[in-house]
Amino acid sequence: MRKLIRSGLIMGLLLAAPAQLWAKDIAVHAGRLIDGVSKAPRSNMTILIRDDRIISVTPGFTTPVGAEVVDLSRLTVLPGLIDCHVHLSFDLFTVKLPPQLQIVKRSSYDELLTAVESGRRTLMAGFTSVRDVAGYTPAMAALKNAVKSGGITGPRMWISGTPLGPTGGHSDLSNGFDAQVSKAEWRDAVIDGPDEAVKSVRQHHKGGADVIKITISGGTTTEGDNPHAQLMSDAEIQAVVDTAHVLGMKVAAHVQARGAIGRAAALGVDTIEHGTFADAADYNEMKAKGAWFVPTPLVAKFKADVARSRPEMFSASAASKLLSIDPLLENLGRAHKAGVKIAFGTDAGVVPHGQNAQGFALLVRSGLTPMEAIQTATASAAEAIGAAEDIGTIQPGRYADLVATANDPLADITELERIKFVMKGGSVVRANIAPQP
Ligand SMILES: [Zn+2]
Repeated sequence: MRKLIRSGLIMGLLLAAPAQLWAKDIAVHAGRLIDGVSKAPRSNMTILIRDDRIISVTPGFTTPVGAEVVDLSRLTVLPGLIDCHVHLSFDLFTVKLPPQLQIVKRSSYDELLTAVESGRRTLMAGFTSVRDVAGYTPAMAALKNAVKSGGITGPRMWISGTPLGPTGGHSDLSNGFDAQVSKAEWRDAVIDGPDEAVKSVRQHHKGGADVIKITISGGTTTEGDNPHAQLMSDAEIQAVVDTAHVLGMKVAAHVQARGAIGRAAALGVDTIEHGTFADAADYNEMKAKGAWFVPTPLVAKFKADVARSRPEMFSASAASKLLSIDPLLENLGRAHKAGVKIAFGTDAGVVPHGQNAQGFALLVRSGLTPMEAIQTATASAAEAIGAAEDIGTIQPGRYADLVATANDPLADITELERIKFVMKGGSVVRANIAPQP
């Protein structure tokens, strides 16, 4: 039976192949082009696309014989945006349950269905690639594969699967519950000692994870863990980093604690997530090691809003600390001034999916220029993920992942919150373009 299905699949592929060969090239006429790497935009450019990749980017509006034109001559065209820190399977806003109740009341099936819808909303908002840094590994791998094969509409995905951390740490989902309340997937998340770290990283690799997420310090809203302490030992972090790197995987570390941030960078962690309480010494260490900073100012803004309007969503002690984001933005500005490399992340899930682009205005508020803010979610994000050959810029060889805005996002960065056009791999997934007069 399986053989029959497989030969049926092969037949289908053979039948589909000629259509692929005959697919028309696409010439996108971009009125203004921000390509993700150049310091300044260029006007009146043609992006030529064959199948799912960009083959040339040339001045003027040209139309090679037989090519189909996509007229964006009145719009600003940018690379498809990338969010390096999302949680597609979690949604604090459409699922009307406090986080702790979500953990026990929702199954992996519920989470997967949430992830499908979150992914669709994220893509429609112009984010053609995401790095998902928490989710049941088999479910997130299934979604990544379904998107890749075209069966589900969503962004390209790099997934961590279940985050790893110590007993009682930020990713120990049993925190705060009766010890008899347990799920097998919660146990996957707990590593104590280098041996367990090595085994768990290997299991994640086998299960389809692309990146390893660890939780070195506690969080600001989870129960019983301390955001100001390094809760994983150096030996545990080193074991994760060494094993992941051998397997070609990067390591993303949730780490808020001053001192632990620099330590994580020194031990070879590739991306520092949140980095809330970093100081100058942490930034120096990150810069010296070339570690990426994925700050998540938007989640801080949403937490402040939620702490005011729905305080029951957080513990009272957490809610009182979350009210202002100004210190966080000032600290982020210091990281930028110190020359730390910044990649875009939102913590979507704790922020409404599809509103990711609101993070750009906060980056600008913290001191980045609009062009620098855009580059955090294009060329820089692609490099931080390790996918710069495929995504993040409008250059020959990259996937034809494009978005467009009606007005200039360099003049008003919030234009990115109103994306008019989205193309992923040469296919138009959204086009709200006014008809040409
Ligand atoms: Zn997160």
